[in-house]
Amino acid sequence: MTGQRTAQENLLEVRGLVKDFPQRGGRGTVHALRGVSLTIRRGETFGLVGESGCGKTTLGRIIVRLETPTAGSVTFAGTDLLASRGAALRRLRRDVQMIFQDPFASLDPRMTVGALIEEPLIIHGLGDARERRAQVCEYLERVGLRPEHYGRYPHEFSGGQRQRIGIARALILRPALVVCDEPVSALDVSVQSQILNLLDQLQKDLGLTYLFIAHSLSVVQHISDRIGVMYLGRIVEILDSGRLFSRAAHPYTQALLSAVPRPDPETPRERIILGGEMPSPVDLPGGCAFHLRCPKARPCCALEDPPLRTRGGHSVACCLVQLEGDE
Ligand code: SF4
Repeated sequence: MTGQRTAQENLLEVRGLVKDFPQRGGRGTVHALRGVSLTIRRGETFGLVGESGCGKTTLGRIIVRLETPTAGSVTFAGTDLLASRGAALRRLRRDVQMIFQDPFASLDPRMTVGALIEEPLIIHGLGDARERRAQVCEYLERVGLRPEHYGRYPHEFSGGQRQRIGIARALILRPALVVCDEPVSALDVSVQSQILNLLDQLQKDLGLTYLFIAHSLSVVQHISDRIGVMYLGRIVEILDSGRLFSRAAHPYTQALLSAVPRPDPETPRERIILGGEMPSPVDLPGGCAFHLRCPKARPCCALEDPPLRTRGGHSVACCLVQLEGDE
């Protein structure tokens, strides 16, 4: 997307984020996030990818204040997002919005499309009825729908159109940061690219910054400036999207990448099939959390949990990987 060329300032800074969920009946603790740190630059799309249960949606929900972390900090445009209360929190709720995976579940079926998109303006006390209606019609058109759709109900629309309604509802407050939580996962492949192109266009038109969460590396790669790869509550690699095929270094990223169609189909590629399931986040293995499935694991990997090391904008958490500039 556009941000790589223009963005320098950090809009969002996440530091050491931990989220534990106690299980019912005191049967243990789900370690959903285990010290996640990342920055998102103003104007970029940061793609976050990983298998179901890796913690990526929990991270998104903390950023929009739907969850409270166990430890760590989140700074948005220089403001402590987690400490904000009252008027400052209301302002943050305008500035940080979320697009949900399931457009049907996230839209109240009893409300008209116009009322659904207008509701955030009413909640935040913005504009009179005439101004709000004009804004709703403008955003219907921005997302590829028509003002005549104002009085219709969500069930009258296709899945892709419902996601367009969800996008209009998220953007009508003119947020700076949008957390897109698997926004195309529930859609047909042909519709996915339409929604991705729409998000791209809206980013250019409205100057948006995206945290784009998905389980498919090919979807994330298509839309992102930088990519973060998560495994069992940790970030294991961060790199520029344009260097994904040439520089991905973590064995887990390489396994995900082996399933993505390459831009150069002549280049031979070996599909890496990971054995076993992702371990339970309740009962984490010692050492590197990936060592039970890692095709490159050595005996020492069961002993040491490698930290995320960064050189030249490339971060990797693997004790076997040498980064440029490493001694
Ligand atoms: Fe694989 Fe070992 Fe690297 Fe973990 S530290 S990713 S187990 S090689």
